[in-house]
Amino acid sequence: MDFLSKELQEIKEKGLYRDLRIITGPQEPRVIIEGRECLLFASNNYLGLANHPRLKKASQEAIERYGVGAGASRLISGTMELHTRLEERIARFKGRESAILFSSGYLANLGVITSLVGREDVVIVDRLNHASIIDAARLSFAKLLVYPHRDMSRLERILERCQAYKRRLIVTDSIFSMDGDLAPLPEIVSLAKKYQAFVMIDEAHATGVFGRKGRGAEEHFGLEGEIDIVMGTLSKAIGSLGGFVTGSQRLIEYLRNKARSFIYTTALPPGVCAASMAGLDLIENEPLLRERLWQNVRYIRDGLLRMGFDLMGSETQIIPILIGGVGKTMEISEYLFSQGIFIPGIRPPTVPEDRCRLRMSLMATHTREDLDRLLEVFSVIKRRFFRGGS
Ligand SMILES: *Cc1c(COP(=O)(O)O)cnc(C)c1O
Repeated sequence: MDFLSKELQEIKEKGLYRDLRIITGPQEPRVIIEGRECLLFASNNYLGLANHPRLKKASQEAIERYGVGAGASRLISGTMELHTRLEERIARFKGRESAILFSSGYLANLGVITSLVGREDVVIVDRLNHASIIDAARLSFAKLLVYPHRDMSRLERILERCQAYKRRLIVTDSIFSMDGDLAPLPEIVSLAKKYQAFVMIDEAHATGVFGRKGRGAEEHFGLEGEIDIVMGTLSKAIGSLGGFVTGSQRLIEYLRNKARSFIYTTALPPGVCAASMAGLDLIENEPLLRERLWQNVRYIRDGLLRMGFDLMGSETQIIPILIGGVGKTMEISEYLFSQGIFIPGIRPPTVPEDRCRLRMSLMATHTREDLDRLLEVFSVIKRRFFRGGS
C-alpha cells in the first residue's frame, strides 16, 4: 500500500495536510488547545448549548432512566419513547405535521435525497451546497445539475431544460456554511412552483439562530409551510447530535419506509435525545440567547468591515474573511493561534484555490472582552500582512 505515503506526501507538498487539534475540557468560548488557552471562533455551538447545565442535566437523567444505548435500529427494537417524543417536539418547533430523526445531519441528507429521486430524476443544487447534499445526490443515481452560487437566472434556465425528467428536486443550504450568506429562498420557491419542482432546504446553520422564534431561514423569509422538505441538525445551535427532516405526514411515513440511512443504523442514544429536547426548550423560551448572538455578530462584522476586511457579504454568524492564496491564509491562521485565537484557514478542496479564507463563527457566549481581543489582533494583522492596504 505504498500509495498511502505517496499521496500523503503530495498533500503535504501542496500545503493541504490536515491535522486534528485536540481540545481539553468542554466546548466553551475559551478552550485549551494543545496546552494553550485559546479563544475559540470556530465552533457551530452558536448558542453555547453544548455545555449548558440544562442539557447536561437532561442527558444525565435520561441515562439514569433509559441507559446509554438504543440497542438496535429504529425499525427493529431501537425506537424508545424519547425518540418519538423528540420527533413530535421537532415537528411542533418547525410548525410541520411530522418529523423523522436521523443519527446525524449528514445521514439525514443521504436518506432523504436517495429515497426521493433516482435514475429518471434530476437534482438541482447550488454550487456551494454542503458536501453531504452532493454525496447524497451522487448516491441517488439521479442526474446532478449545478447552478452558480445564488444565481437564479441560471436556476431558471436549468429548470426550463429539465421538463423531461420524471421528478425535479431543488436542494439548497439555507445558510451557506463557508460563505455565511443566505439562499434566496422566496425566489427558489416561486421558480419551483412555476416549473413543478420540489424544494428541499438544509437548515443546519439556521436552526435556532434565524427567525423570530429560531425556527430557521424558512421562518425568517416568512415561508413556513411552503417548502416541501426541511432538513436540519441537532448538532449545531441545538448543542447535541442528530439530524432531522420535517414535512407532511406522508413524506415522513415514506422516509421511515425508504430511507436507508434511517433503516440500517442504530438509533440515537437516549441521553442525546433528552439533551436535544432541552436545547429546543431553551431556544423557544430564551430568545435572549439568540439576541446575544446577533449583538456579537453585528459588533464583529462592523469592526472588521471598518478595518477594510472583505467579509464576502456574510449576513450571518458565520463570517469568512477572504485572504486569497493557501500560503498567506495558513500563515495568518498560525499567527492568530500564536496570539491565542483559534480561527481555521479554509483551503481547497473545500473552497477554490484563490478563495482561501479564515472562517470565523461567533457564539452567544463570547463576551465583549473576547470580541475586543479579536478586533485588536485583527488590527495588527491588517498592518503586518496587508502592507499598503488591500
Ligand atoms: C454540518 C452540516 C451538515 C451535517 O450535519 P451533522 O449533524 O454535523 O452531520 C449538513 N448540512 C450542512 C449545511 C451542514 O453545515
